[in-house]
Amino acid sequence: MSNVAFHIAKRVVQKERVRTLCRRTLRNARGRALHRHLVYSNVDVVHERFHANKHTDDVDTNGRMIVDGKAKYGKWQHNDRYVVLRAHDGSKFTRNPTPSSRAIFTSFMSTVSVFKENINATLDRKSGVPIKQVEKKDEEIAPMEEDEAVIQSVISGKTPSYSLESKLGDCKRAAFIRRVSLERVTGKSLDGLPLDGLDYESILGQCCEMPVGYIQIPVGIVGPMLLDGEEFWVPMATTEGCLVASTNRGCKATYTSGGATSILLKDGMTRAPVVRFGTARRAADLKFFLEEPRNFETLASVFNKSSRFGRLQNIRSSIAGKNLYIRFTCSTGDAMGMNMVSKGVQNVLDHLKADFPDMDVIGISGNYCSDKKPAAVNWIEGRGKSVVCEAIINEEIVKNVLKTDIASLVELNMLKNLAGSAMAGALGGFNAHASNIVSAVYLATGQDPAQNIESSHCITMMEAVNDGKDLHASVTMPSIEVGTVGGGTQLASQAACLNLLGVKGANKESAGSNARRLAKVVAAAVLAGELSLMAALTAGQLVKSHMKYNRYSKDVTAAKS
Ligand code: ADP
Repeated sequence: MSNVAFHIAKRVVQKERVRTLCRRTLRNARGRALHRHLVYSNVDVVHERFHANKHTDDVDTNGRMIVDGKAKYGKWQHNDRYVVLRAHDGSKFTRNPTPSSRAIFTSFMSTVSVFKENINATLDRKSGVPIKQVEKKDEEIAPMEEDEAVIQSVISGKTPSYSLESKLGDCKRAAFIRRVSLERVTGKSLDGLPLDGLDYESILGQCCEMPVGYIQIPVGIVGPMLLDGEEFWVPMATTEGCLVASTNRGCKATYTSGGATSILLKDGMTRAPVVRFGTARRAADLKFFLEEPRNFETLASVFNKSSRFGRLQNIRSSIAGKNLYIRFTCSTGDAMGMNMVSKGVQNVLDHLKADFPDMDVIGISGNYCSDKKPAAVNWIEGRGKSVVCEAIINEEIVKNVLKTDIASLVELNMLKNLAGSAMAGALGGFNAHASNIVSAVYLATGQDPAQNIESSHCITMMEAVNDGKDLHASVTMPSIEVGTVGGGTQLASQAACLNLLGVKGANKESAGSNARRLAKVVAAAVLAGELSLMAALTAGQLVKSHMKYNRYSKDVTAAKS
């Protein structure tokens, strides 16, 4: 009798084990999105075998299925055991169903048996998993046979690495293969550079070529920031300790003083081709032609055909000998606008060829634009959005929040941001650290980080007003280049940050108002950053707070190569 009971009990436990293993195997197989073409055939095999045998009571068959299930479960195990990527129902992320009490019991029993097997094994100090298992996991993420062939082909140079996406038709698999090939060729590990978690299809042909993973930058939040009567929570992507905390303190100072106010002075992206003539006379002819108001109308209609949003505003030109630099400025809706303005400029140049056949277009960009370089033309004329943002901070708030006094701030601003920058021969750098805030907001919201150069041009002014009872602080920034459509703004994480600011994508009611709003937010965050850093400098807190928030406390020599 006890034999029969034992037999029945064993069968019940076995069947539950088979069911659990099958479910986990399916989960793991689906999770390997890298091998999507393989996954589904493997899933089907596992699935079919399980269903064909699920009613058998034969102990040996069940035993074989357990062995088989265990092997497959290990083979397809995903790094994150709780996440199911690309489940059969089409959803991208699902979680395992809550296990039944029986499943919990079975799982407990299997843990006991694993424990027994490994009771004498050395445990990995970090994970607590026996070393034997950690090693096994490494084997499991080794490439599949089909991938191996492609990897060899990339390493040998037969398949160009850049062609993987188009050849395989699977962007994530292409990134995986490129990455493994790179590791093998260089002998350097890319452990720590994540591969999973990025939608590789979304960057194809738009944001980055030949990806092998992505870097992680923490996103901090400052706010609420009160600007033009509205509250904003501003995301900042940075690895500089203190920056978010300090900007947040500045936001608190402006908020409690009634908020900041901003004015958009100009909104126009520029592109300046360089064209060459045989003589300076001919170059001047074109210059005068472009300055003639009647011609502007015609050129604007040619320019505007290139986009629904690009509208030519003006053309300024400068001569250097027989070369002419023509700076076109146009509105670009919610796009930062470099592509848009370039297309319009190309149309105009093609059109001008009819009247000036001797014009030689040397380059669509002649650096008089001027993009991603410090240049006086942007500082003086503006590029993108020109914004001024101001706030009046009461002396109590200067004392209680900023921990300093108005006179010290005004004096430091004059001697550092104005006189000091003049001594340094600064170009647009009449501020304490505008680029810190600009770069962090740009990274978080998918802007072009290289444009932080001219976008950070800023003059910070501080003045005592109302008989010294209040501080008037302002930042004037002539070249904030931002967009809420195009480029990196469409990537999921950056779009989430834009969404938080209420400026995601194109503004349907009024094209361009999302991008303009974002530019104002950047300026207001810069104002907060300026106030806080300047206050820290007057109070001598800078070094102390950086020691607290911005120091390595870990052994940097321990990094793996
Ligand atoms: P950029 O010129 O900043 O490089 P892109 O040309 O890549 O930007 O992206 C702008 C694209 O978005 C254009 O094709 C444009 O037609 C489209 N678009 C849709 N809505 C808007 C909008 N509100 N403002 C600007 N562009 C928009």
